[in-house]
Order: sequence, then C-alpha cells, then structure tokens
Amino acid sequence: MNTQGSAYDVVLVGGGTAGCILAARLSEDPRVRVLLLEAGSAMSGLPEAVALPPAWPSLAATTAGWGDRTVVQRASGGPVPLPRGRGLGGSSAINAMVFARGHRSGYDSWGDHGAKGWAFDDLLPYFQRSETALSGAPGRGTQGPLVVGPATAPNDVLLACLDGAVEAGHRRALDISGGLEEGFAPVDLNIVAGRRQSAADAYLAPALNRSNLCVVTDAVAHRLLFEGERCTGVEYGAGGATHTATGAEVVLTAGTVGSAHLLLRSGVGPAKDLERAQVEVVHALPGVGRNLHDHPRANLVYRAQRQVPAARNNHGEILGLLRSTPEADGPDLQIIFIDIPLPNPVAPVTNGFTIGVSPMRPLSRGTLRITSADPHAAPLIDPAYFTAEQDVRTVFAGVTAARRIAWSSALADWGIEEVSPGLDAVDEPSIGDYARKYFGSYCHPVGTCALGEDEVSVVDSQLRVRGLDGLRVADASVIPAIPSNNTNATVCAIAERAADLLLRRS
Ligand SMILES: Cc1cc2nc3c(=O)[nH]c(=O)nc-3n(C[C@H](O)[C@H](O)[C@H](O)COP(=O)(O)OP(=O)(O)OC[C@H]3O[C@@H](n4cnc5c(N)ncnc54)[C@H](O)[C@@H]3O)c2cc1C
Repeated sequence: MNTQGSAYDVVLVGGGTAGCILAARLSEDPRVRVLLLEAGSAMSGLPEAVALPPAWPSLAATTAGWGDRTVVQRASGGPVPLPRGRGLGGSSAINAMVFARGHRSGYDSWGDHGAKGWAFDDLLPYFQRSETALSGAPGRGTQGPLVVGPATAPNDVLLACLDGAVEAGHRRALDISGGLEEGFAPVDLNIVAGRRQSAADAYLAPALNRSNLCVVTDAVAHRLLFEGERCTGVEYGAGGATHTATGAEVVLTAGTVGSAHLLLRSGVGPAKDLERAQVEVVHALPGVGRNLHDHPRANLVYRAQRQVPAARNNHGEILGLLRSTPEADGPDLQIIFIDIPLPNPVAPVTNGFTIGVSPMRPLSRGTLRITSADPHAAPLIDPAYFTAEQDVRTVFAGVTAARRIAWSSALADWGIEEVSPGLDAVDEPSIGDYARKYFGSYCHPVGTCALGEDEVSVVDSQLRVRGLDGLRVADASVIPAIPSNNTNATVCAIAERAADLLLRRS
C-alpha cells in the first residue's frame, strides 16, 4: 500500500509489543486511521524449528534481531550483547516468554518525578485487559488477547528446585505473575498450544484486515518531521526509497533503544550531545537517552549425574521473587531456574541446569547516545551495569540464597556439582568479581524516555513528549524505574493505557 502523502490520525513507529497493541486497540474504532511502521519483516520467513518455544535463544541471531551490543562495560571490560527484536511483534517475538507483572512495590517510585496515575493500582485494569490468565488467580484478566498460563508439565529438575526453595524457607507463591506475591512458583508463559504467542500473534493478526489499519514492514523511520513545535509525521526508508507519512499524532513505539535513538537523531534531546553529533537541535530535552537501565543476570551452572529431561517450554518455567535483605521495601531479587546448563567460563557442562540471579531494582543508570544523524549508525548503548555497588551486593545475596536451594535435600538425588562459579568463590569479593565479569543482560532495557513532569522527564503523565505537540512515546522507554520482574507484561499495560489516552477514554 502506498502511504506517501496520505494523512493518518495516528502514525505508530515500531511494531513490537507496544506497537502491535496500539495498532490493534486504536483501529478498533473504525474512524481512527492508523499507520504502523516496522523496520523488520513480518517474520513469516523464519524456519519452523526456531518458532518452537525451547528454540527461543537462537532467535536473536536471525533476521528477527538487531544484533546490538553495549559499549565496553566498566564492570566486565568488554561489550555485552543486548538482543532486541526486529519484525512484527518486536522483542515479544524473540523473547523468553515469561509473562509477569512486576511486584506492586516496584511501581511505587514511578511518581517520583511527578508522573500521576501510574501506580500499580492505576495500571491494574490495563494489566487485566491484556491477558486471559488461565490460572484464574484473583485479580487476573479473563478476556484479554494474550493467553497466558504456567507450564502444564514443568521440567522435573525445575520442580525439584521449587521444592528446594520451599525447603530453604521460601514461600510457595500461588501466582508469582500477578504482582502481589513474593516467593517461588511456576510463572505464566506466552505459550499457546505449544507455540509462542507474540503481541503480533495475539493483537495484530486479528486486526490486519481492518480497512483503517495500514501496516508497512521493512520500513525504517529515519527522522521525525516538525512544523514549529508540532510533530507532523515521519520520514522513513522502504524499498530503496524515502517516504513521508503524516499524522495528527505520532507515537513512538520503537522500544527503549529505538525510540530514544529516533528522538535524538531528529534533534530532540540533550543539546550538547546533539551538537557533538552534529545534529541540529529542534527541541532541547535533557532526559532523552538518560536513565537507561536493565536487569543484569549472573548464572550458577550445575552439572547433574541424573539425566535432565529435554526442555519442552521456555527453559525458565519457575522463578522466585525475594528480598535481598529483611529491610528491603519489597522483593528486589529474582532467582530463576533454567533447565539447561548455560555456557559458563569454567568448564563445559553437557547435562545439568542453571540458576539465574538478577537484581530486580538495580540502581545503576547509564545512557543511550548517538554519534550522527545517520539512521543506520548504531547508537552508543551504555547501561552502565554494576556501576552502583548495591547491585553487586544484591547479587551476592541472591547467590547465597540460590546455593541454599541447590544444596537442599530436594536436589540430592540429582547428583549435582556447582561448576560455575564453583565453590572457590564463596565470599562477597569473589562473588562480586564473578558477577561483574560474567554477567549477561536479562534483555529488559528501559528508561530512556522516562515518565514524569520535571526537567529530567521526557514524557508527561499522558505520555506526550514534553514541550512538543503531536508526539508521544508509549513503550518500555517510558518506564522510569524497572519493574521487579520481566518487563513485557508491564509494556503491555503501558500500551493498553496509551490506547485509552489517545482515544481520550481516560
Ligand atoms: C531475547 C529477549 C528475551 C526476553 N525475555 C523476556 C521474557 O521472557 N519476559 C519478559 O517479560 N520480557 C522479556 N524480554 C523483554 C520484553 O520482550 C521487552 O521488554 C518488550 O518486548 C519491549 O517492548 P517494546 O514495545 O518497548 O519494544 P520492542 O518489542 O522491542 O519493539 C520495538 C519495535 O520497534 C521497531 N523499530 C525500532 N526502531 C525502528 C525504526 N527506526 N523504524 C521502524 N521500526 C523500528 C523494532 O524493530 C521493534 O519491532 C526479552 C527481550 C529479549 C530481546
């Protein structure tokens, strides 16, 4: 379809989790003409085998991923791979399929910079609207497009870890995905009838034949177009040509990396950074690209004598949320049981499992910057992992808790041995060194266009870019402080809420 010269009510830039949800919700109203631009493809070209849930780790290296890496991290002395999705469904099409709200306490600080109406209770109707939770747990959605539930038959080794967690004194949660509980339980997954379900599958596919929705794939947004302070549209490249799309509202749903990158190369951001990159300043907004943060994760890898059953789901079917210290004001630590031995720096393991430890409310903050206005030049992504010492201490608490679980009698007949880091690393300095050197990204970057009403905020409580008209951001980038769980469900709630704001229903 030729979109050149045509005007839309809403132009959405980025067809990931948030973009698919917004495209579907906005086009429910036949009077609203919606254009969705997505840099990647429709993803139908991927081999069948990689679409199956256990194969998800290989997806990021296909055409469905951008292949990003961070800049060299002070903690590890090297860059860190930071996968993100490219194609309809975005990161929800390549992610690990865990679907869980953050614990309610983690949203308390969202109003710190003046944002109003973004506490857990405000988000609750939108969490519910996105899901049909098969668990039927109290407070969960029953009619939303995403059909989510715990693994029907979790891997035996993960069930043994769950028993071990209870034996070690942790609470057995009923619904660890609902945002209200601490403790360990099977987590909800985006798997339906043995296949992964992305936001594109659940929301966009049923909306594709609407005449008021136009979806253009392989379309890379180059820059935003402005008339004075009003954003009037987007210039994008597709099919070897440059096009423009105009809209009454432009909504950035290009993700934590993509949305900030597009704002910066369009001249919206910290004036000094833009000048250094030789980008003309359209609107000085110091917060763009600041506040980048992510969950780092360190892994303990175990060799087992007993054969670990083959994976049938996402590998990480059971997890726990806990407090690193009794004084913490909510769970700030996640421990996830993984039914394969992940690569590790000590020795290869063929049969075994992994326990991942991740600080859920890290204090480390980094930046996303640009070097030029070239849309094809990669941005400088610096999550500055472990630059706050507190984050290392939280991992130490997590490793200690994970080992108590591994040494419980529930795992005794698996004949396990900790290969990595190994039992030479027991005190805080040696665990800290291991975490800093060998952590990976949990792939939950957020925060580069943070919500709020003050100087450092990028979007206001209605997700409008501060100081400009006709431009909003509605994706993981607006999250001011990362939720204490995996991020996708929170992005779904943000997008559901954004649809209401755009349709002026709230
Ligand atoms: C490997 C991996 C595993 C993960 N595992 C989990 C998990 O198990 N559970 C969980 O809750 N979360 C997980 N996440 C994180 C979660 O999927 C994301 O937080 C969420 O999908 C982010 O949604 P978004 O809409 O902000 O961005 P995305 O879904 O990343 O969508 C952004 C879209 O914008 C497009 N885009 C970017 N720039 C442009 C441009 N210039 N022009 C046009 N289009 C553009 C991209 O191609 C992409 O499709 C994982 C992420 C990854 C990458």
